[in-house]
Amino acid sequence: MHEMAIAESVVSIVEDHARKAGAARVTVVRLEIGALSHVEPQALSFAFEAVSIGSMAEGATLEIARTPGQAWCHDCMKPIEIDRLGSPCPSCGGYKVQVTGGEEMRVKDMEVG
Ligand SMILES: [Zn+2]
Repeated sequence: MHEMAIAESVVSIVEDHARKAGAARVTVVRLEIGALSHVEPQALSFAFEAVSIGSMAEGATLEIARTPGQAWCHDCMKPIEIDRLGSPCPSCGGYKVQVTGGEEMRVKDMEVG
């Protein structure tokens, strides 16, 4: 389950930020997860709860936003959005689609207390 490793890196990122901000604890963490990232938001929330115990992020609310996958359609010659890998272009229905983004996960924002 790679969500565990992702959750661990999220906790270390937010602890780092909180320390630099001179905060005692993290109350809210907002994540952006690309639709093409193969990360299960529910599994990630569960993993975050588990790995944050004893850290500054213990008990923090994890808010996960899914961002659409970005791709380039070679037929339309324009950027498009897709829900998952292997999806056709929503404009022309073609498959000459090259993924350009939406596989990443990032900490968008956080609140400290
Ligand atoms: Zn197209």
